[in-house]
Amino acid sequence: MVELKNVNVHYSSGVDALVDVNLRINDGEFVFIVGESGAGKSTLMKLMMREIVPSSGRVFVNGYNLAKLKGNKIAKFRRSIGVVFQEFRLIQDYTVYENVAFVLRIADQSMKYIRQRVPYVLNLVELANKARNRTRELSGGEQQRVAIARALANDPGLLIVDEPTGNLDPKRSYELVELLKDINRCGTTVVMITHEHDLVRYFGGRIINIEKGSVTFDENIGGHDEDE
Ligand code: ADP
Repeated sequence: MVELKNVNVHYSSGVDALVDVNLRINDGEFVFIVGESGAGKSTLMKLMMREIVPSSGRVFVNGYNLAKLKGNKIAKFRRSIGVVFQEFRLIQDYTVYENVAFVLRIADQSMKYIRQRVPYVLNLVELANKARNRTRELSGGEQQRVAIARALANDPGLLIVDEPTGNLDPKRSYELVELLKDINRCGTTVVMITHEHDLVRYFGGRIINIEKGSVTFDENIGGHDEDE
């Protein structure tokens, strides 16, 4: 669950990136966050992953009051969420398997669990056959799916995906959203940040539009997604 109450983010440069934002995303939802460049989407994402704290207001994610978190509680909180960055942030010299296993080792998981969990999440993103390949040998779309598998490794309640379709052709973009929808159907809350209005309109569902730091639209719209 994500809840923002009267949140303001004022950067020292003088910019008000978010202005009195109130927002609640319940467990199990699939939400698109849309807005033009500079609207405040990344700032919202940084708040949700506790990279920054609000200038005023409160942020709750997965039961944690984020402004109050300190030290190793921050690390514990971060393991309750999965984040897929635009630039993936994978270790290129590692194999696909090692990239996913790495985050489980940091979380002190047993070897036995890691040996089960890594193939499971790689299977989810249809990359089981590439487990032993070095990450640098994969295409951009495949690397993105490794990043999704890694984000799912710790079985997070919330998955945040930042502009995932930026470098994908339209067909792959639709497939990617379908994959995220499948992940959502398995119980993970998914928040996808994007500026692609066409894609969002096609799938429909809950759409939150941010403009100049404010939520200007937050509604469920019907899409063309036959499965829904
Ligand atoms: P988006 O992700 O929608 O493009 P951002 O959240 O990155 O928007 O930016 C919102 C506003 O805050 C913009 O005006 C941007 O220039 C400003 N901004 C973002 N990050 C910083 C920062 N670290 N310091 C100062 N201003 C920032």
